[in-house]
Amino acid sequence: MEYEGRICRGPMERGSYMLPISVGCSYNACRFCGLFKDLTYRELPLEQIEEELKRVRAAGGAPKTVYLGDGNAFCTGFDRLKQIITMTREYFPTAERFNMDATVTGIAEKSGGQLKELAALGVSRLYIGIESGLDDVLKYMNKEHTADEAYEQTGRLREAGIGYGAHIMTGVSGRGRGLENAEALAVFFNRTRPEAVINFSIFLNKKTALFGDIEKGIFKPADELDNLREDRRIVELLNVDGVDYDGFHDTILTRVRGRLPRDREKMLAAFDKAIDKYERLEPVYSITG
Ligand code: SF4
Repeated sequence: MEYEGRICRGPMERGSYMLPISVGCSYNACRFCGLFKDLTYRELPLEQIEEELKRVRAAGGAPKTVYLGDGNAFCTGFDRLKQIITMTREYFPTAERFNMDATVTGIAEKSGGQLKELAALGVSRLYIGIESGLDDVLKYMNKEHTADEAYEQTGRLREAGIGYGAHIMTGVSGRGRGLENAEALAVFFNRTRPEAVINFSIFLNKKTALFGDIEKGIFKPADELDNLREDRRIVELLNVDGVDYDGFHDTILTRVRGRLPRDREKMLAAFDKAIDKYERLEPVYSITG
């Protein structure tokens, strides 16, 4: 299958078989996100998905974990999702787990019975753009959910037996609010118990509404030093047994990852080393085209 778009998935999915079932993001309105701006969301025809399954089976593929793409694959209707998973399992009896990106709203649209049925079919982990624990930040960034809604929907997932991974972005709350955001996120995670937290750290994309706000002086961006301090604080406060944490700061080539609480001291030491370095340098902002 010819892939359309940009692959963006948690590093925990690097070994999974990525099977696109849609193109782009059905929401496509988060203030900071330029990932799928050039694409109109559409669901791929089942025949095209089946062709891809045939191709990979003919090439000898036998995946255990399938990652359904793209931007928020879980928003596809229940019947269609069930049909895709059932068909994939027919081609690959080895496939035990189905993971994909989701939005809080997309979870709310499925009933408790449907979530349980999907769990029984192998839906194992949904990656949700939690981004922030602060309601005013979620609202300003035009996320489709409030913190309370995120609490509710992650709770429904837990009841159904589906795990979740959180995508967050240090810097999302702007200059001077990183530690406040870190503390709100830690409270959220300590209650909702994600299996993984991935911090992509904010990238200021020139194609986005957020970048326009920066140019007008409405939003004051945090620099990468602030983002490292925010990231460190989250790791310090996370109290979720066995959570995999992966923090990327691509612009400054820094990545701190590990399993908590086991690796906490090692991770904090890595943050301290990077913070010490960037305290002595000019501010660095992560700006992309
Ligand atoms: S952050 Fe996620 S939900 Fe928001 S527009 Fe981008 S892909 Fe869609």
